[in-house]
Amino acid sequence: MAKCTSCKNRDAIFMRPYSGEKLCGRCFTKSIERKVQATISKYDMLKRDDTLAVAISGGKDSTSLLHILMKIEKDFPETTLCAVTVDEGIKGYRDEALRFAIKNCQKLGVEHKVISFKEMFGYRLDELVDMIRRKGERDLTPCAYCGVLRRRVLNSVARKVRANKLVTAHNLDDETQTILLNIMHGDVTRIARAKPVLSVAHPELIQRIKPFCEVPEREIALYAYLKKIEFQENPCPYAHTALRNDVRNMLNRIEQNHAGTKFTILRSMERIRPALEAMNEEEKLRSCKLCGEPTMGEVCRPCQMLQRLYIS
Ligand SMILES: [Zn+2]
Ligand SMILES: [Zn+2]
Repeated sequence: MAKCTSCKNRDAIFMRPYSGEKLCGRCFTKSIERKVQATISKYDMLKRDDTLAVAISGGKDSTSLLHILMKIEKDFPETTLCAVTVDEGIKGYRDEALRFAIKNCQKLGVEHKVISFKEMFGYRLDELVDMIRRKGERDLTPCAYCGVLRRRVLNSVARKVRANKLVTAHNLDDETQTILLNIMHGDVTRIARAKPVLSVAHPELIQRIKPFCEVPEREIALYAYLKKIEFQENPCPYAHTALRNDVRNMLNRIEQNHAGTKFTILRSMERIRPALEAMNEEEKLRSCKLCGEPTMGEVCRPCQMLQRLYIS
């Protein structure tokens, strides 16, 4: 086995295809933690007196991020941190992930808030999916509903714990998939908006930051494995219904033969974004006339989606 190209001492266990580095376990996990720190300072994500709400699903990405943030937080003594989990109500999936989320928070001594679709909207996602299927909704998948509603819940709960920033564990793969999906959906304004630090356009909207946005998913998986972090591994039972799944497979196939493609997509978008932002008028968010939450139109997306299901 080759020696680690970083410490030149221990045996390498991982070769980073897009950089050629061969790393031992210790140098590898350090490189991930350093990458997160570099991303945080590159995008100026943290301030000394921030109150963070960290979205924790119980999967490998968010659980690893929580572990790394707890380390980084030591350098930010005035920062406070609280973990939040959305219980969408997916039988056999979320309930199991929730156990991992609770266990990790206890182990790290992090305050943890759980909030469910049921208490926010009156229905579990499983019940909403039944309604979606009974209505024969074709243009919107369970994931479309879940994504919109989950973002709403996260924003509300972040506000409730008085956080000024909401941290999510979106990784390089998630970000590049989103870029391509927005192109496929013809959603140009969304391309400009989906950045590592989201601009705040409404006082009720908590700023979202993504410290994992430059870390590939498979490296987070290796990090979690090497750090013996316990997380839920089963995929969501509804995931196969989403276009995102096809985009993920396509990108992984390309990345395998052309290492570094995902980074190139991210960099390209960073260069195009200023032009897109200049093109789009500064969007003024207002308050939804039904629920009062921030929205672009008169009625917010969650209210629109729920109305479609409730009204027969
Ligand atoms: Zn090493
Ligand atoms: Zn609304």
